[in-house]
Amino acid sequence: MPSREQRRWQHFEAARKTRAVRKHIKRNRKPKRVRRKEWMPDDFDALDELAERERVMPLGERERRQAVMAAALAGPDSTRSEDTGTLPEEEAGQQQGVVTEVSSSLCRVDLDGRCVICGLRGSLSARETGFTNVVAVGDRVRVTHNGADRGVVEAVLPRQSVLVRQDPFYSHLQQVIVANADQLLIVASWKDPLIWFELVDRYLIAAERNGLFPVICVNKIDLAEDLEECRVALRPYLDLAYRVLFTSAMEGQGVDELRNVLRGHTTVVAGLSGVGKSSLLTSVQPDLQLRTGKISDTHREGRHVTSQVTLLRLDGGGFVADTPGIREFGLSGLRRSELASFYREFAALDGQCRFADCTHTHEPGCAVGEEVTRGLVSATRYHSYGKIRAELAD
Ligand code: GDP
Ligand code: ZN
Repeated sequence: MPSREQRRWQHFEAARKTRAVRKHIKRNRKPKRVRRKEWMPDDFDALDELAERERVMPLGERERRQAVMAAALAGPDSTRSEDTGTLPEEEAGQQQGVVTEVSSSLCRVDLDGRCVICGLRGSLSARETGFTNVVAVGDRVRVTHNGADRGVVEAVLPRQSVLVRQDPFYSHLQQVIVANADQLLIVASWKDPLIWFELVDRYLIAAERNGLFPVICVNKIDLAEDLEECRVALRPYLDLAYRVLFTSAMEGQGVDELRNVLRGHTTVVAGLSGVGKSSLLTSVQPDLQLRTGKISDTHREGRHVTSQVTLLRLDGGGFVADTPGIREFGLSGLRRSELASFYREFAALDGQCRFADCTHTHEPGCAVGEEVTRGLVSATRYHSYGKIRAELAD
């Protein structure tokens, strides 16, 4: 049974998609402007949405990218499955697991809680996928193993989702950072450092662009005068049906609820340094091997298994992604005209502004501006919209 929040979220999503389709139809009636491709160097481009749908591309490029996307979601095994029209049958002696860590040639696979270090079967190739890595953290794989701690990845199963970023060395290629994540835990602290709502909004946008269910976690509530103060500040998000947790890793409030939220999901944890991400995860499960200090693990041949992201298995089921190397989620590739659709309360006012191409920043007769004056749309959210918008390309 989906929870009440999930149902409301699905409702919002459905409404947003309908509006997007309507807009698309409207836009296509207008003569097309030719846009130059622009790259946006910003602090938020570490993780990016794969499809840069609206860009003008060389002839055939869009089709190529669609094929790449399909291949990425299908995993490197897709060529084999296309031959037969079905997924490859599980073969004798193979066991399914989840990749929790990767290096260039090895990966660590979790087989129902047991850890096996695996090499990759030579026939697995990232060629044609548009990605630099064959196997990513979070991939569901089938392995053969020697009954002890060594094995071989025989197949990568189709991916449900991918978080990607541009390869630092080959800019035309993408790296899959995490596969199959379904939730984003946005951690902020009430104080020390002071909660930064603009960053919360950025993460909410990133979550929606990447198809992750967002959960806002306000930590260090022990530093607030009273909980009511926190609730009032978060009211705009609660009113928009976002899931909000109030926690104190120090005193334990909200930790049980957080544990429930994480259970059974693959959650990416995001937030500024110092907000208490590690402390929270340790409160949820004291024996989690967070990577503070421990990055690699030497095995028999003396090689290392290292990766930017590690998946940590939760006792109750599910994983959290420990991602110290990733600063922020990317907003790059996001167009100005798309931004309002990620603000649920703005999207709800679609079509009510005096001008059809209202940017909701300064225009007379702007329905969003009017609701801000009336106090129905949060001034803080309106402000973050203006700031983020100013950074984006047309
Ligand atoms: P991270 O960088 O996000 O992983 O943050 P840490 O977990 O390392 O925590 C940063 C600092 O905040 C540490 O000194 C923690 O002791 C402290 N801290 C974490 N959670 C809480 C909390 O709920 N309340 C208070 N008062 N301090 C906390
Ligand atoms: Zn407007």
